[in-house]
Amino acid sequence: MARLCSLHGRPLVLDAIRVGLDHWRREPGPFDDTDFATAVEQAVLKAVASSLRPVFNLTGTVLHTNLGRAPLPQEAIDAMVAVASGASNLEFDLDKGKRGDRDDHVEARVCRLTGAEAATVVNNNAAAVLLVLNSLARRKEVIVSRGELIEIGGAFRLPDIMARAGCKLHEVGTTNRTHPRDFDEAISSRTALLMKAYTSNYRIEGFTAEVGEADLAAIARANNLPLAVDLGSGSLLDMTALGLPAEPTVRETLDKGADVVTFSGDKLLGGPQAGMIAGRRDLIQRIKKNPLKRALRCDKQTLAALEAVLGLYSNPDTVAQRVPALRLLTRPEPAIRATAEAISGLLKAWAGDGWQTSVMPVKSQIGSGSLPLDLLPSAAVRLAPLVGNKRERNRQLKALSARLRQLPMPVIGRISEESLLLDCRCLENEAPFIAQLKPETGAL
Ligand SMILES: *Cc1c(COP(=O)(O)O)cnc(C)c1O
Repeated sequence: MARLCSLHGRPLVLDAIRVGLDHWRREPGPFDDTDFATAVEQAVLKAVASSLRPVFNLTGTVLHTNLGRAPLPQEAIDAMVAVASGASNLEFDLDKGKRGDRDDHVEARVCRLTGAEAATVVNNNAAAVLLVLNSLARRKEVIVSRGELIEIGGAFRLPDIMARAGCKLHEVGTTNRTHPRDFDEAISSRTALLMKAYTSNYRIEGFTAEVGEADLAAIARANNLPLAVDLGSGSLLDMTALGLPAEPTVRETLDKGADVVTFSGDKLLGGPQAGMIAGRRDLIQRIKKNPLKRALRCDKQTLAALEAVLGLYSNPDTVAQRVPALRLLTRPEPAIRATAEAISGLLKAWAGDGWQTSVMPVKSQIGSGSLPLDLLPSAAVRLAPLVGNKRERNRQLKALSARLRQLPMPVIGRISEESLLLDCRCLENEAPFIAQLKPETGAL
């Protein structure tokens, strides 16, 4: 106990002892000193262990919101570390020697990459949408097509955000068809903004009509109203040039006449969690002056990482290799298969008897609201129970998944069709994965 106290401090050890004694009082039995000491030590170790930890994402979803979305490039990590431990010129203009603006560290790069006149950054894209709505349309109406009243996983619903931003949602058209005249007819003196949301996570097919950015922009201009477009993923590159499904770029959306565009920093852009707002200078000025901007602003580490990631975009020939999210999304299937083959033997030994192991072709997903229908050819190690009825096999699959999650660096796969699939797309460096499965490391 003395050793535990000196290592971890008296309060934690006392708490663990109290919890242990309470437990024993509730379920009294023979009291064993050694068992009690072990239980206390384990409770203390559990209390001091980090809760937020790195994991292996073998789910096959590259930009997995629950697993932290885009992995950062080393350049961004170095930039975060450089500003983390001390003072920086976060809001200090080194040329003039006076107060600066934290957006200055990224604004010029965003403008160069998107063609926008001005830009600002907040904590995430939900915050960006909230801020745009509140700055440009508080107490006024915002007109949106009924086909675009989106919900993104994790409680982002456009109508709710609209209400919290203090705007009145004016829905027009129908779920499957909205026409320019629907917007024309809805515009009144109460209207402050037209809005379009990119419906990336579902698709309406069949008898459909939507009003494109260019038509909406013309209507907005004719009525002297701004047009805001929420792109969500908001790519900075032509994804089809990388062999990926088409995504509208921020530049083309602005070119079509959007006045402000909002997009995430940690989706296809491949940077830290952030919400980007790019567009017309006068509107960005209004947005930056809103007191809510102060409440939603990014911290210095985020800005440092974002500046570094945007820097990697300046060379179009190397960006897809240097931004990890893009590199993983474009990783060739043969390379993924080679990884799967390299680890499958070891996994077979680690899983033990009763499991059939094979390498099989699968499809990975982009994730983060990108079209779930667009799947990328990939390869997975498949672990299937050899015996048992359906229920028994399910139990075995759950137990094996739990064992993988209990590894020093937890491994997250997915269960599909009575097998556990470990999609190797995001396993670029297999050495640490292999090391923790080797029996001599004590993982067995
Ligand atoms: C993902 C997404 C959001 C929310 O962005 P976060 O960065 O997760 O806050 C908003 N709108 C659209 C269209 C999205 O795809």
